[in-house]
Amino acid sequence: MNDFGFWETTVKKLVIKNIGQILSGKLEDPIFDGDCLIAIDGKIEAWGYEKDMYYEGATTEVDAHGVTLAPGLIDSHVHPVVGDYTPRQQQLGWIDSTLHGGVTTLISAGEVHMPGRPKDIVGLKAMAIASQRWYENFRPSGVKVHAGAPVIEHGMVEEDFAELSKAGVKLLGEVGLGTVKDGKTAQQMVSWARKYGMQSTIHTGGPSIPGSGLIDADMVIETGTDVIGHINGGHSALPDDQIICLCESCSSAFEIVHNGNERSAVLALNTARELGKLDQVILGTDGPAGSGVQPLGIMRMVAMLSAFGNVPAEKAFCFGNGNTARQRELDTGLIEKGFCADFVMLDQAQHTPGKTMLESVQQGNLPGVGMTIIDGIVRSERSRNTPPAQRLPEHIK
Ligand SMILES: [Zn+2]
Repeated sequence: MNDFGFWETTVKKLVIKNIGQILSGKLEDPIFDGDCLIAIDGKIEAWGYEKDMYYEGATTEVDAHGVTLAPGLIDSHVHPVVGDYTPRQQQLGWIDSTLHGGVTTLISAGEVHMPGRPKDIVGLKAMAIASQRWYENFRPSGVKVHAGAPVIEHGMVEEDFAELSKAGVKLLGEVGLGTVKDGKTAQQMVSWARKYGMQSTIHTGGPSIPGSGLIDADMVIETGTDVIGHINGGHSALPDDQIICLCESCSSAFEIVHNGNERSAVLALNTARELGKLDQVILGTDGPAGSGVQPLGIMRMVAMLSAFGNVPAEKAFCFGNGNTARQRELDTGLIEKGFCADFVMLDQAQHTPGKTMLESVQQGNLPGVGMTIIDGIVRSERSRNTPPAQRLPEHIK
């Protein structure tokens, strides 16, 4: 009880008013009605029209000033190492810069750029566990980094996967970046990983850098990972007939990345659409890599695929949040009660063609990011990286 006779409230209540439109992250219903959203203690509580909602008692209040609210974007394929530093391009602050591109969650496809990365089994397990811990304990600029993704090597046995899982490791790095390059061994290890609740991905396509190798469609199909990592190559894509074959044969996620072949990206998207498999399309950057860091990479993929793949922009956004959340079993990336209050607020970029933000994106333009929110906390305001938005949300309190 405080001096005024009221119980002290420890509830954190986020109220966002005057939202122009709500993108849901759901391919089957991509735009929700409403102008107001409420989150309690970092989880989505309710959305709808302000006049119908109980918005008193906000501890954080945002006036959207008519901009679009969408679930925070998810990058399904990054190579983090430690903190907000990447040794691959000797760059600091790449995760903060990515937040300014509307990305609130990153998923590691292997911490392969660690200088002196251990490749013996004890060493690789130790590094995976340590990586999982240091990103759990430290979120650069508030961004959620799911890391600790060991690359499988010859000699690993079932007990190794049980031990990794017990220690909190939930991902495998890209199959094929280590010594295991045959489908039979890879399939065995991926099924052990799956048995212990770990998700797997594979390096699809030609070698990425000197020393890595080719993974063709036969090996991808035989290995049977949960995610077909960079189906459009990273950087070099498989021939068209093999990409089409993967889309036809597999029920796993089709991950399209910024660092891959853009023509093959459109081919994969068109094939998925013809097969009625758009729900399997997810997006990544594959940065940091030889192509560098891409802070706007996920939004660039949304705009590119919407424009060249003839997908309405509100659905293309789902590739970058809701689809990935569902394929990766995350509690973010969708407007859903109880899901994390992780959002990006967007508006049409100044002087772009199109009558609305969505129309301008479908014409291949980036939107302007005005704010990001993670776990109900405002993490960034006007983006320093996107083109300027026409309108900006305002952090009232
Ligand atoms: Zn790769």
